[in-house]
This record gives sequence, structure tokens and C-alpha cells, in this order.
Amino acid sequence: MPSDSNHDSGNHDGKTPVTVLGLGLMGTALATALIEAGHPTTVWNRTKSKTGPLAAQGATPADTARDAITAAGLVIVCLTTNDDVRGLLAPEADALAGRTVVNLTNGTPRQARELADWAAAHGVTYIDGGIMAVPQMIATPGAYILYSGTDEAAFETHRPALAALADTKWVGKDPGLAALYDLSLLTGMYGMSMGVAQAFAMIRSEGIPAREFAPLLTDWIVAMTHGLVPSGAEALDSDQHLTDVSNLAMNREAFRNFTTAFTEQGLRTDLFEPLQDLLDRAVEQGHGADGFSRMSLLLEKD
Ligand code: NDP
Repeated sequence: MPSDSNHDSGNHDGKTPVTVLGLGLMGTALATALIEAGHPTTVWNRTKSKTGPLAAQGATPADTARDAITAAGLVIVCLTTNDDVRGLLAPEADALAGRTVVNLTNGTPRQARELADWAAAHGVTYIDGGIMAVPQMIATPGAYILYSGTDEAAFETHRPALAALADTKWVGKDPGLAALYDLSLLTGMYGMSMGVAQAFAMIRSEGIPAREFAPLLTDWIVAMTHGLVPSGAEALDSDQHLTDVSNLAMNREAFRNFTTAFTEQGLRTDLFEPLQDLLDRAVEQGHGADGFSRMSLLLEKD
């Protein structure tokens, strides 16, 4: 592995030089947080004009990705996709060797593992991350970022700088784990978001303003989440799916009211039809007395 004496990984009064590659909405928020926390921050973006506002805040803009990479021992990258990351980093492997890349681009566990393998083959320390926040939440309470990678010590070294972005949650030495946790959390969120969209469409079908209905919906989702998530996890992990609360046979019949009502109210049924199919399949396969934990098993490929 090449010496890393050509980069500044030194401690500047507890502040670490950091490079941020990619200054979209998220990358800009990340760089801003680092600047505000006092870390010497070098920034690069494909479209150069986006470095301007950050330079005005104290960042050092770099003309090329290579110049940015060689400015710091910690290189944070946040592009649209992991294909973009691979395309950007691959030609810079020699410059990256001996440094730590923290990739906060959203992607899959497989992509993270492949990038980690590529990095290891080139002497680059690779940490994958999943940002559980929108840009406006960066550096505010409640935001956190999931991290995973083979080199936990490197993560601990850079944790103080990373903590400027959001709370840090280390999830393990398999590089794919941060993406797995990230996508699993987002899966729950997108399911909920689509349900909220359908609920608003339903209430608006009678001219009731969404904002009037919103408090009821919020309280309902919070209450249901507190019940459903822990009990579902317990049922799955113990493989005990029978329920005395709300079984799939009942839900299958109740579900028909939704698609019927959507049609009656002049709404589309596309979103709920696959859910009806899944419930039908669960009952037809003999799981009518089980609770919703059974659905996770049905979502596994046969
Ligand atoms: P933006 O669309 O705002 O920014 C995308 C960035 O990627 C830009 O800097 C763009 O450069 C750069 N880029 C895209 N393709 C390439 C390429 N081939 N080579 C070099 N640079 C490239 O997206 P966000 O900043 O919102 O999101 C970035 C990542 O963060 C995504 O993976 C997203 O899923 C994740 N994320 C975003 C959240 C959000 O709420 N915004 C929340 C959590 C995660 P250019 O300016 O030149 O186009």
C-alpha cells in the first residue's frame, strides 16, 4: 500500500481535513455541516458552479476529483448511483490508495460489497453508509447515518468528523449491512408513504381537506406502528404466527371493502390490488388464522 504521507490526515485542533465529492442536495448539506463544524473541507462537483456557495462558506473548491481526493485522508462521496461512484473513483484508484472512502450514495448491499472488494484490491479503505435523513435534517437532532465496512478501526478514527453530519450508527463489518438496513428502513417508509397517499385520496374524494384529516392519520399510524412492528418481529423470530388480534382471513375479507370503496369513490385501485392478491394467497395456502407476520414469509421467493 502506498504511503499516505502525501495527504493531510492530520489533526487540526481536533478537526480532520475532509473531501466531499458530489454536491447535489445531499452532498451540499454534508459539506456545509463539515464546514460549520470547523473541519477543513475540500469540495468537488462534476458541475463546477455548485462549489461556489460552499467556497463562500469556507470550503476549498478543487478543479478535479483527483485534486480533491489528494487533499484529505477522508473522502466522502455522495452521487446519484453507485455506478456513478464506480465511474468516478475507478480512474482515481492510485490517488485513493491509503485513504478512507465513505460512500454515502444510496445503493444495494451487493453494490456496496462489490465497491468494498474493488477498494480492497486497490489499497483503499472503504466504508459504506446509508443516510437516514433528508438534506434539511443533516446536523440536526434525530438524523443518523448507518455505516458498515471491514475496517471498523478506520470508522472509529473518522467517527468524530462523521459525527458532524449526523449521529453515527455502526452496523457491522460486512460492507453490505448499511445498505441492507437503509433499504429495509426505507421499505417500511415507502409502504407507509403510499398508504398515506391513498388515505388522502380517499378523504379528499368527499371534499374533506387533507390537513383536517392529518392529525387523525398521524395518531393512527403512530399507534399502529407501536403495536405492529414489535409484535410482528417477535412472531417472525419465534416463527409463531397464530394471532388472537387480527387474522389474515378476516383481513382478506375486510380488504375487499377497500378496493370496492376506492372504485365507488372514483379512485384507482392499482396500489391495493397486489396486496389483495397476497392476502388471498396467504389464506389459500392455509394461513388464515395467522397475523401479518406471515406476510414476510410469503414475500420470500418460493
Ligand atoms: P442530487 O440529484 O441533488 O445530486 C446528485 C449528485 O450526483 C450531483 O452532485 C451530481 O453532479 C452527481 N453525479 C451524478 N452522476 C454523476 C456522475 N456520473 N459523475 C459525477 N457526479 C455525478 O441528489 P442528492 O444529493 O439528493 O442525492 C445524492 C445521493 O444521496 C443519492 O444516492 C440519494 O439516494 C442519497 N440520499 C439523498 C437523500 C435526499 O433526501 N436528497 C436522502 C438520503 C440519501 P452534477 O451536479 O454535475 O449533476
